[in-house]
Amino acid sequence: MTTARPEVYFGSVKTGNKGAFAALAAKVDTIIKKMDFSSIEKKDKVAIKMHLGFREGYQTVPVFFVRRIVEAVKKIGGFPFITDNPTSVYNAVNRGYTQETCGCPIIPVAGIKDKYTYKFKANFHNVKTLDMGGVLYDADALIDLSHVKGHNTCGFGGAIKNIALGGFSGPSRWKKIHGVEQSLPYWDAEKCTPEHAKKLKDACKDGYITYDEEKHKLTVAFGMCHQCGDCLKADKGVGCLELKQENFSLFQEIMAIGANEILKSFDEDKRFFLNFLLQITPLCDCWGIGFPNVFNDIGVLGSRDIVAVETATLDLIGKEKLIEEMIPLFMRPHLDPELDLHPFQRLHGPMKDPYIALKYAEDLGMGSRKYKLVEVLAPEETLKMESPKSVSETEPTFF
Ligand code: SF4
Repeated sequence: MTTARPEVYFGSVKTGNKGAFAALAAKVDTIIKKMDFSSIEKKDKVAIKMHLGFREGYQTVPVFFVRRIVEAVKKIGGFPFITDNPTSVYNAVNRGYTQETCGCPIIPVAGIKDKYTYKFKANFHNVKTLDMGGVLYDADALIDLSHVKGHNTCGFGGAIKNIALGGFSGPSRWKKIHGVEQSLPYWDAEKCTPEHAKKLKDACKDGYITYDEEKHKLTVAFGMCHQCGDCLKADKGVGCLELKQENFSLFQEIMAIGANEILKSFDEDKRFFLNFLLQITPLCDCWGIGFPNVFNDIGVLGSRDIVAVETATLDLIGKEKLIEEMIPLFMRPHLDPELDLHPFQRLHGPMKDPYIALKYAEDLGMGSRKYKLVEVLAPEETLKMESPKSVSETEPTFF
């Protein structure tokens, strides 16, 4: 990394002036300028990796901002294109993303059959190889454009998850990366009778424990488990089940490994990260449905350092109050104020500390958890600026 404390630019949704120059769109433009796209060369193919949503999920990065980012790339002579998994690309029009609205083509990350990939050796527990999206691999520059939200498996989704999951083919994403949580033992089959296994299964009211009687195999869905501890209570006296931090952390570790591999395919000065902290839902865009926002909107962060932008994102959300009445009733959050937890841990359980992936990422040399937050067009600053006389239907106008 270029500096010990990389800069993370922050534009708050809060404003101090009724002028458009103080609003979020102007802040996004300023952040883009500060991040400095000039290292993108003329005719560079610039992949804007974002999640275009699934089905009825509408809380993704607004096309309004996507278009501004696309225009900024075009302005310096780059050839931008948006990329995501083929399903999301195929029906992106339902959520307002088209070539016409975004201003550039939208291309599936691993081709229309999800098979245009580059294999790399992950060699991490049960994951030997992963198939990286070939379209992303072929690009010259990367803009990792993320909608920040909670995530049931790792606490939160931002820039790392956007490429670590979204940058790989479907089978790598859903089977291998999500399957890594099962690679460390947590249940002792010999200690557990079939009757006891059924008791454990029944103890999990949400159905996150399954038991295959024929194979005498019990499985905990760590990605969904909210660590209520009911199964462990039911296991008292037998002791055949453990919920270890390692099982929960494996997913975060492989996310860092996958994201690092994608970053390595770009020059360091051609990687840009923008996190949108708007419409922060408790669960990820992959669910394909709308959820209530569980935090007030915060703003936008941009940096050339993926670890720094993610750390700043979590730090800002950590200062926010979780809007408890908006948490979906099927979730079982940890709301005891005595517990010292990040709000995303309150939503998804203490063992889903969202900072874990950032520690792994830093250890891999992907960036720095220390950063310098630079607020652009802060409300206190714009309050002192002259306000426009008129704010409604200004030029250009048909009125
Ligand atoms: S700790 Fe997890 S697996 Fe066990 S009962 Fe609670 S939610 Fe289910």
